[in-house]
Amino acid sequence: MTFEYAPAPESRSIVDIADAYGLFIDGQFVDPADGRTFPTVNPATEEILSTVAEAGQQDVDRAVRAARRAYEQVWGPMSGRDRGKYLYRIARLLQERSRELAVLETLDNGKPIREARDVDLPLVAAHFFYHAGWADKLEHAGFGPAPRPLGVAAQVIPWNFPLLMLAWKVAPALACGNTVVLKPAETTPLTALAFADICRQADLPPGIVNILTGAGDTGRMLVEHPDVDKVAFTGSTAVGQQIMRGLAGTSKRLSLELGGKAANIVFDDAPVDEAVEGIVNGIFFNQGHVCCAGSRLLLQESVADEVLTSLQRRLSTLRLGDPLDKNTDIGAINSAAQLERIHELADSGDAEGATRWTAPCPLPDRGYWFPPTVFTGVTQAHRIAREEIFGPVLSVLTFRTPDEAVEKANNTPYGLSAGIWTEKGSRILWMAQRMRAGVVWANTFNRFDPTSPFGGYKESGFGREGGIQGLGPYLDSDVVDHEATVRIGFGVTEVAR
Ligand code: NAD
Repeated sequence: MTFEYAPAPESRSIVDIADAYGLFIDGQFVDPADGRTFPTVNPATEEILSTVAEAGQQDVDRAVRAARRAYEQVWGPMSGRDRGKYLYRIARLLQERSRELAVLETLDNGKPIREARDVDLPLVAAHFFYHAGWADKLEHAGFGPAPRPLGVAAQVIPWNFPLLMLAWKVAPALACGNTVVLKPAETTPLTALAFADICRQADLPPGIVNILTGAGDTGRMLVEHPDVDKVAFTGSTAVGQQIMRGLAGTSKRLSLELGGKAANIVFDDAPVDEAVEGIVNGIFFNQGHVCCAGSRLLLQESVADEVLTSLQRRLSTLRLGDPLDKNTDIGAINSAAQLERIHELADSGDAEGATRWTAPCPLPDRGYWFPPTVFTGVTQAHRIAREEIFGPVLSVLTFRTPDEAVEKANNTPYGLSAGIWTEKGSRILWMAQRMRAGVVWANTFNRFDPTSPFGGYKESGFGREGGIQGLGPYLDSDVVDHEATVRIGFGVTEVAR
């Protein structure tokens, strides 16, 4: 049975988008030295939302100088207790302005308002609250009696969770006493610029947080700047490798959060309805623009048909359309370029012999859209089983035994996350011990918490964000802890490796 819903659009009047934005350097919005700008577009309508500055070399120099001065004169010498107060203040402002920020994120990114409001923004505030608590307790975090900050952190983030990725980067860096220069993705700069305004509202002293908008060239200039001590990058594996090559031979510290091709594994004893919800959440949350998305579904052969039938029935009820409508499940693809990449990879699935099924939902005339899609008959050699699609496309494979499930799940150059659906606790632990993935979810998927470390193995990168482990990459200490996390339902169990 399908339900009809009347439109329930969130008002955008709460958001005040300026016609143009400068760069946020040393506590001020300033024009870029060479005057270059680019537009940012609402992917659901193709409407130009604003024009933002494109930072060049002089701007990068200026921002890094501001961050260095703020580090040496203000933030570095400040007590952890006082740093914590600023972070708490920022966290409260993020909460106060969360509706505005959620609408802004939805406009600039295309994600459903329900997700921006209920997932992104609560987690953004939670990351600042959590790290505010650490600021005056770092000597008790297991990094020695007097861990020191590294200095100036250059941070580059992608477009899929713009403000949340900013929070994952900025909150631990500041809590540990570093100053930052952050570059948001070129298609989603607006919430980072709103965050700059929040820093001013919080009276954060100038230079501690600097925001440089721009594209890949700006990012490259920033991470290669000689006066940067630490580089933190989240984005594609190809760019991560490029950055690593560029930094080789320097003393800069580096952490990389890269792509993924996670296996979501359903055993024959799993509760089917719950597993189906988990599969949907695993790959269709945020249009599949999720690095840890469960993009490879591994079904035990004996239940494969039953799960697939239920999944298709469930996908047929998803509502795709206006991201500002509170009923919308599937929003817009973030950019024309990303839509093209999804089409290209999905077409390769057809060409290589997999069978495509598409949810029966009409697509709006304007904007960038891709319907929820499931490929069956996928083999491990297919591109759609090996390459990250970063869109609402699920590749389904089958297995017979737990050993085969492990073998197939780990047969990927990536290692960011995995999901296990089974009734047996012993099987969860047996599987989790064998999964080469930074996060293993059990009977749940895509569940995040600032207290829990997140990060990859193999080509998914190194370094952890969140939890005590996420402080290490911002401290001058040799203690680096790689742990995997097993989440069972709502509880969290940590498995040391
Ligand atoms: P991308 O690598 O193209 O871009 C990411 C960021 O890097 C952008 O801000 C971009 O402007 C910048 N950039 C591009 N070239 C650069 C260079 N040479 N030097 C420095 N910066 C440069 O990735 P994307 O398409 O924006 O994001 C999607 C990717 O991000 C996916 O692969 C996804 O898996 C990954 N991702 C990973 C995580 C994680 O935590 N592991 C989280 C979110 C996204």
